[in-house]
Amino acid sequence: MRVAILTDIHANREAFEAVLADLAARGISRIGVLGDVVGYGPDPVWCVERVMALVQDGAFCIKGNHDSAISTVAEHLNTAARQVINWTRPQLSAPHLAFLENLPLRHAQDDVLFVHASANDPSDWNYITDANRAMGSFRAASARVIMVGHRHVAALYTCDLDDRVKAQTVTVGQPVPLIRSRRWLAVVGAVGQPRDGVAQANYAILDLAQNELTFRRVPYDVQKTVGKLRAAGLPEPLAMRLNWGT
Ligand code: ZN
Repeated sequence: MRVAILTDIHANREAFEAVLADLAARGISRIGVLGDVVGYGPDPVWCVERVMALVQDGAFCIKGNHDSAISTVAEHLNTAARQVINWTRPQLSAPHLAFLENLPLRHAQDDVLFVHASANDPSDWNYITDANRAMGSFRAASARVIMVGHRHVAALYTCDLDDRVKAQTVTVGQPVPLIRSRRWLAVVGAVGQPRDGVAQANYAILDLAQNELTFRRVPYDVQKTVGKLRAAGLPEPLAMRLNWGT
C-alpha cells in the first residue's frame, strides 16, 4: 500500500494541485497530511476545503503550528507569519475553524508514527535539523518509522541497534529501502513553501508493502501564487521566498 505524505501546504493552491496531480498520475489514492494547511499563502479557504474533502475520502491530517495558531494566540510565530494568520482567520468559516482546531497531533499506522514537528513533544514545534535533534524523537517513540514535516526541507535519519543516529543523503525520485535492522525518521519537505533553494513542491511516497520511501519534487506555477500573494497585500518577503524556494 502506497501513501502520499504531504506537509506544509501553507495555503499554496498551485503547489497543492500540482502534487495532487502527480500522485494521481502514479495511481496513489491514499494521502496523509502532516499539518500546516494554512499560513504564509494566499489560498487558505481552497486548501482547507480540499484537505477536508480528502479526509472525508479516507485521508488523515494532523495539526501543524500554523493550523493551531488559527485558534490560539500565535506567540511562537514571527511577524510575517502572524500577519498572515491574522489575515487568514476571518476568511475561514465555522466548519473550517472546527476542522483545524480538532485535528489530532499525531497519527499512527502499522509501525509508522506521523507528527508535524517532532515525536518527543509534538505541540512544542521543535525543528529536527540534525541527528542530535532526531534522537529525541527516536527515544520518545517506539515506532520503527517516524514521519514529520515542519522544517520545509527534506531530510532522512536512521537509528541503528546501538542507538546511533545518523543523517542519510536525500535523493529525489529514488526509492530508499527502509531496512528493518534500523529505525527511520523522514522529514518531508514542504508542499507550499520549500526552503532548500529549489522552487518546487515536495512530497514523499511511503510504500508500506515494499517498505520503501521516495522523496518527490513537483514543479508548479510559482508566479501565479506569487501574484496572488502580492494582490492580497501579504508580506513581500513571503513572495520572495516562493520565488527562490527559500
Ligand atoms: Zn510549516
